[in-house]
Amino acid sequence: MSYAPPRRGLPPLLLAALYAGAVLLPMVLGWTTGHQRVGMRAAAGCGIAAAVMIFLQMISSGRFEAISGRIGIDVTMAFHKWAAPAALVLALGHLALLVGPPDAERPHRLARRLDMLLQPDLAEAWAALALLALLVVLALLRDRLPIRYELWRASHALGALALCGALLWHILSDGRGLAGSPTLWLIFAAGVGLPALGVYARRLRASPATDWRAAETRLVAERLWEVTLDPPPGQNLDFRAGQFAWLAFAGHRLPLYDHPFSIASAPGEPRLRFLIQEAGDFTRRIGALPPGTRVALDAPHGSFGLDPHGPGGILLIAGGVGIAPVLSILADLARVGCRRPVRLIYAGRSPEAMVPPAFYGPACDALGIEPLLLADRGAAAAGMGPAPLTEGHLRMSLVGLDPQQCDVLLCGPGPMMTMATDCLAGLGVPLSHIGYERFSYDAGSLSAKDRRILAGIAALWAVIAALLLAYSFA
Ligand SMILES: Cc1cc2nc3c(=O)[nH]c(=O)nc-3n(C[C@H](O)[C@H](O)[C@H](O)COP(=O)(O)OP(=O)(O)OC[C@H]3O[C@@H](n4cnc5c(N)ncnc54)[C@H](O)[C@@H]3O)c2cc1C
Repeated sequence: MSYAPPRRGLPPLLLAALYAGAVLLPMVLGWTTGHQRVGMRAAAGCGIAAAVMIFLQMISSGRFEAISGRIGIDVTMAFHKWAAPAALVLALGHLALLVGPPDAERPHRLARRLDMLLQPDLAEAWAALALLALLVVLALLRDRLPIRYELWRASHALGALALCGALLWHILSDGRGLAGSPTLWLIFAAGVGLPALGVYARRLRASPATDWRAAETRLVAERLWEVTLDPPPGQNLDFRAGQFAWLAFAGHRLPLYDHPFSIASAPGEPRLRFLIQEAGDFTRRIGALPPGTRVALDAPHGSFGLDPHGPGGILLIAGGVGIAPVLSILADLARVGCRRPVRLIYAGRSPEAMVPPAFYGPACDALGIEPLLLADRGAAAAGMGPAPLTEGHLRMSLVGLDPQQCDVLLCGPGPMMTMATDCLAGLGVPLSHIGYERFSYDAGSLSAKDRRILAGIAALWAVIAALLLAYSFA
């Protein structure tokens, strides 16, 4: 039996090489025709790198499996989040280098250059810089802004579109050969812009006949709902256990209304099931979803999951609603007759806030495992252990398993994932064997794995900085 559709994402090193190559190409092309002075070349290099990075943001939004299918949505979103401030620094460097340092021997030079940069024909460049700064600030402050998430997303998408337009205009009208071939920039902008716009166009064009339908919504634990969807006639979804879907409810066609939810049912089930925790203005209303409501589905996405036939043991750790993808994986391991030793830890605020045993019991029985259940409150009365998750729990779960061979999948609150990752690494589980699914991209303190991911991103920036220096002094 084939386990699941193959992963469609490009390997991380190839993605990094393509990214650096995209930054380098216009510099190489501009180098043959452009200005020779070091300062001017450095200014052009910063501008080119910033522009390429901004355009590439269009396709690093987590919607393209070629990009996030292998590296995962967490890494993709972390990259997307930090690439924008990095591009802003480069854009400010571009501006500072164009102004140049004060020169005592030429006292009027600074005023002349500032005057030149403030000419009306550079209005689009200033607009691009202002938009970039605004987008970065609003993205970093997003969770603290008193506006609905959908409104923020709409402003982010429209602002990004306006930024790319202003930037392209600036490159084509003011690049003066230093930015390389205008045709190449047009092809590049279309190459990243059209797929991004395509995500919206596809959804607007999609026939309502392709929509899924809400079949049932029921409360399964405190503030936790199970939503079951019926497929459109004659269709089904091919996905790997652990993946997630972007869902837009009630006939909303634009992806602005999409919310990501992990699929809690196993592949092969005729219906899709989701577990939805009341968190904000949309999820708080999920209990009132009428049966028959149309649901637009963009799926499958994500790289959370594992090979049930690999070597070594499997440790699944879920906290709160993080049980959703873990249930899918657990059921799938039972379905395919996984022979690897499996352990499950499931922790929650209280037994009432956790899904009942009917959700995981049958798969646990089939796999011959006894889950370790932990709760912050009311644990003893429910026959559970006291939360929070500790090193002792992890150590106990690894008994009889070779940590070096063990695959661990973690989904839960940020602090729990950080603690568990660092502890497991200390107990000998390689970081490459620990898989995450974060439900919030700003999930607090960093684990050793997060730091490794950020180090990888920093290494890519270092390569870009080195390319910039080489270009400036070439
Ligand atoms: C890969 C992934 C899988 C997820 N799976 C589940 C799941 O199985 N069950 C579950 O209950 N929750 C899941 N979530 C979280 C869920 O998407 C958010 O809780 C939900 O979208 C909040 O919407 P809201 O309007 O009620 O809350 P809001 O108050 O609008 O938002 C609360 C926070 O949720 C995040 N959020 C809101 N909307 C979106 C969005 N469209 N895209 C990304 N983040 C958003 C933002 O960080 C926001 O600050 C998942 C998140 C991700 C990234």
